[in-house]
Amino acid sequence: MDEKTTPPAVDETLPPVVMPSCPIDRKLRGQKALVTGASSGIGRGIAIGLGHAGADVAVNYLSGDEEAQAIVAEVKRCGDNKAFAYRADVSKEDEVRAMFAAVEAELGGIDIVVNNAGLQKDAAFDEMTLAQWNTVIGVNLTGQFLCSREAVRLFKRVGVKPGVSCSAGKILCISSVHDIIPWAGHVNYAASKGGVAMMMKSIAQEVAPWRIRVNAISPGAIRTPINMEAWSTPQAYAELMKLVPYKRIGEVDDIVRAAVWLASDESDYITGATLYVDGGMTLYPGFETGG
Ligand code: NAD
Repeated sequence: MDEKTTPPAVDETLPPVVMPSCPIDRKLRGQKALVTGASSGIGRGIAIGLGHAGADVAVNYLSGDEEAQAIVAEVKRCGDNKAFAYRADVSKEDEVRAMFAAVEAELGGIDIVVNNAGLQKDAAFDEMTLAQWNTVIGVNLTGQFLCSREAVRLFKRVGVKPGVSCSAGKILCISSVHDIIPWAGHVNYAASKGGVAMMMKSIAQEVAPWRIRVNAISPGAIRTPINMEAWSTPQAYAELMKLVPYKRIGEVDDIVRAAVWLASDESDYITGATLYVDGGMTLYPGFETGG
């Protein structure tokens, strides 16, 4: 076998990448974060990751009190930071406004907002109901609009807090590779994430003079409940790998590390950017062998 042209076989026994528990680098100490949809999957990981990096964390959730309380306990485990859970539907204006007021009161401010809540309601396009369309746009796009708007209002009102962060606030939108890859059978989802991409950039452009940073992470295939059918059987996993040049599924920690960095002052000059954390999924894998 020619090692220069043939990639090595994938070792499926390799353990997933995991973050060291409670990293010593508490680069977000003194900052306060709100993570939406944080009782499972990527949001759960980001809430814990921000907490382990030293931030106080509000864990927004829609259902699952017990899961949310367990995340609160995990955030608190590594240090003296505060955490609490707050139930709200991010697609509802009154609930989002009440949530921001409650988080500001409980934590004494907000420096980081992670728009993570999202869902899928899949259907062939000609069978897609208006309810399926509206639900996905309502949570994935309008939910991010409502939370970003409350965040900007708060960040503008409070301004830069010297000694806490270089910026007045950070918004992180969890988008998807489907903000640029079309997705048959998921038109509502792709439209919502495409909307997030341009919403994020436009907000970033508008609020940069206030020292507010707005960025996005676009995950590829990450092992979470939202896409279990794509990785839970060997056949499905093998099919998935045809789309991933790096030949492993993404783990929640892959997203968490990027999120902690984008929320920290280490990325202070970055705004309006989308970071694709996707093992190369956006690199046109169909052309891997030359097309
Ligand atoms: P998940 O289903 O585990 O998490 C989504 C969370 O959003 C759930 O906890 C759910 O309860 C919450 N949620 C749904 N509607 C809500 C609402 N109205 N208000 C508040 N919370 C609500 O799946 P996940 O993979 O962790 O997804 C998190 C984000 O990552 C989503 O925005 C998703 O589109 C995005 N994403 C995931 C992948 C992936 O491969 N897992 C890939 C690209 C993008």
